[in-house]
Amino acid sequence: MAADATEVVVIGSGFGGSVSAARLAEGGAKVTVLERGPWWDTVPVRSMGIANRTAFPRGLSLFRRALRAVHHPLLPGGSLRISRKGLLEVYVSRGMEVICSSGVGGGSHVYSALHRRPARPDFWDGHCDGLDEATMAPHYAAFLARVGSARPGLSNTPPHGALKLYGDHPHFAPVVPKDEVRVGFLFPRDPANPQLVTTEAGISRWETDYGSGDHGFLGAPSGSKSTMDFIYLGPALRHGLDVRPLSEVVAIIAQPGAARRFRIDYVDHAARRRSAIEADHVFLGAGTMNTLRLLLQSRDVHGGLRGMPHLGRRFSGNGDIRGFWDLNTPDTDYTEGIPSKGAIRLRDESRPQVGIGRNNMPSVDAYPFPRFVRQRLKRGMVVSGMGEDAMDGTASIAGGRFRIDFDPANSPIYGRIYEVMQEMARLSGRPVYAGRRPSTVHPMGGACLGRLEAVGVVGADGEVHGVPGLHVVDAAAFPRPTAAPPTLSIGAWAENVAARFLAKN
Ligand SMILES: Cc1cc2nc3c(=O)[nH]c(=O)nc-3n(C[C@H](O)[C@H](O)[C@H](O)COP(=O)(O)OP(=O)(O)OC[C@H]3O[C@@H](n4cnc5c(N)ncnc54)[C@H](O)[C@@H]3O)c2cc1C
Repeated sequence: MAADATEVVVIGSGFGGSVSAARLAEGGAKVTVLERGPWWDTVPVRSMGIANRTAFPRGLSLFRRALRAVHHPLLPGGSLRISRKGLLEVYVSRGMEVICSSGVGGGSHVYSALHRRPARPDFWDGHCDGLDEATMAPHYAAFLARVGSARPGLSNTPPHGALKLYGDHPHFAPVVPKDEVRVGFLFPRDPANPQLVTTEAGISRWETDYGSGDHGFLGAPSGSKSTMDFIYLGPALRHGLDVRPLSEVVAIIAQPGAARRFRIDYVDHAARRRSAIEADHVFLGAGTMNTLRLLLQSRDVHGGLRGMPHLGRRFSGNGDIRGFWDLNTPDTDYTEGIPSKGAIRLRDESRPQVGIGRNNMPSVDAYPFPRFVRQRLKRGMVVSGMGEDAMDGTASIAGGRFRIDFDPANSPIYGRIYEVMQEMARLSGRPVYAGRRPSTVHPMGGACLGRLEAVGVVGADGEVHGVPGLHVVDAAAFPRPTAAPPTLSIGAWAENVAARFLAKN
């Protein structure tokens, strides 16, 4: 198998991958992005001139393309692939389910676009020399500025917000976060009349249409949501960035003594063949689950990497539990507005004071279900809680298969969130369908930041201890749970890794 060559290969194009790839290409590096999923068919991606696009799953294609793969220990081979062009991926593991996504832009297509700092103000302090809250501050600012993340004003506030609905409620109160929460949506100047706008980079997108309900976790075709494909990758294409969709990496092989330090083996799903590319540097941003899987498989199955004694340790689900609050509020359509409607807490202070986020079901009009089912889904809310868990899970390879072991009993946060959700059900007289078993959309850790190989996997510049040239740019590197939505911190971390690389090379 002949391999072509480049300077930097970035694996994955979510927050970690896109941010680092764009910054490196714009800084003059020769960069190739390998992304296993397709370009999604959105207004901005069309305006970028990308020819081969895939429509988000809607209608009957929900059955074919909502899921890329399911991983379960009892499945033959441990996995069932449903579609190379599927949007979501589910890992069923010991003690927890994890949901992640696929496609150019990664999780930015499915997220609710909440940008929030970690709950602890000292998140970055004390793990590595030369890295702390102060050194990370400019990277947070750079990410927020590029995304244009903002808050709506009084005149264009989206409907169903917690502040408005629960300001005077007898049982529930809106959560007013200590830090500022920003949102990656392009808010309409006039909510009754959203406009098509063209960015400075010549990319078109629509302002958010609060009435469409079509911009949640099944993607936003209009471009109202700020996604990494057009915010970071689009402008970088003009700097020579090479993005290869439908390219699934299967192994990273270090080449000791060779001119190119790594060979990256991947499956080219478009051409239906195996390929390889060599690079001096690899930036791994496949999302926590797939970053850990690739590192472990490359080391333990393919023998392509060595060392990393702490790899797989300190995996966290960020304390996530979610459920459905079957409010069935008459004459109400909670899909109006933006996906996140703000969090609430119990007014009774003798109860756990955990904020419960409220989100609507996305794109319900496109579900191939009877009308009454769709209506019921529109009249209820997806509820979720998160917080600091024990971060004591492990990721490993057993019998050639990737697995996560996590015992939720060690993390009191889950019991507290579950108690609040059950109390919400009792006080509202409406059921909350939630399990005690964690289901996270925010996996993190497992390749954690640490001063030395003896305590962590990566250093302050994201480079893996003992494997020069290999970097981790996603939340697998986080030293503790963010206890908050993590994308702002993943973006800032990738900005930091890219800036340090450019300063050094
Ligand atoms: C429903 C939902 C709502 C969310 N809402 C929010 C929110 O409001 N705020 C927030 O901060 N977070 C939110 N999140 C979480 C957020 O989406 C993730 O934390 C984030 O996407 C992780 O970024 P990442 O760069 O680490 O990886 P990802 O965004 O997951 O990107 C990884 C990319 O790598 C690709 N990849 C994986 N394996 C390979 C391989 N072998 N070869 C090539 N490519 C590969 C994937 O296809 C994917 O495109 C939400 C998540 C979900 C599911």
